[in-house]
Amino acid sequence: MNPGLKAKLQSILGLETYANRMGFSTTCLLLARDIVLDERVTMHCHLNLCTNYGKNLMCPPFLPSVADNRQMIDRYTFALLLQLKQALDRYDKEFMRQTFDANARRFGQMAVALERKAFSDGFRLAMALGAGECKLCDNCVIQNGERNCVHPGTARPSMEGMGIDVVRTFAAAGLDLDFTTAQLTVAGILLID
Ligand code: SF4
Repeated sequence: MNPGLKAKLQSILGLETYANRMGFSTTCLLLARDIVLDERVTMHCHLNLCTNYGKNLMCPPFLPSVADNRQMIDRYTFALLLQLKQALDRYDKEFMRQTFDANARRFGQMAVALERKAFSDGFRLAMALGAGECKLCDNCVIQNGERNCVHPGTARPSMEGMGIDVVRTFAAAGLDLDFTTAQLTVAGILLID
């Protein structure tokens, strides 16, 4: 094998090991080209089914088009799928929502830390993608008409807002996205060049 390619593969596998040590429940390496994008996903955003349309800088209409995102993702070689799972012992809706939001924030911090590790390992264009709308602020600044994110170092785009069919992408890697009364799952992706 080409020594450069061998070293790169070893670095990527080392990054996956690092992610496991950080506390991600599940990781799986995929080719970036196998990430599934589908205009129907962002149509759900445009129909405001999640009620966040136009209310978060990491969601539509503030993200590039699905076609542009396809092109951008295809410039990467690998995608490290990441999951954070938590067992639930209470089943009321509000508790589940709060737990999910707290886990999504934790996931975001971990994913950005992993992105920084990838950068320091030589993957200078590595980029983390988040789960759902950015939850770093109680109310995104766009709701006050501001277009500049207050945490640009840690806010990352929503996978769904980019048009990624998260369920199909993770299923292709053999991963489910349990969201039941017994367990919730937060998912995201680290793109690696
Ligand atoms: S960090 Fe705050 S301002 Fe930036 S996208 Fe997230 S919620 Fe909006």
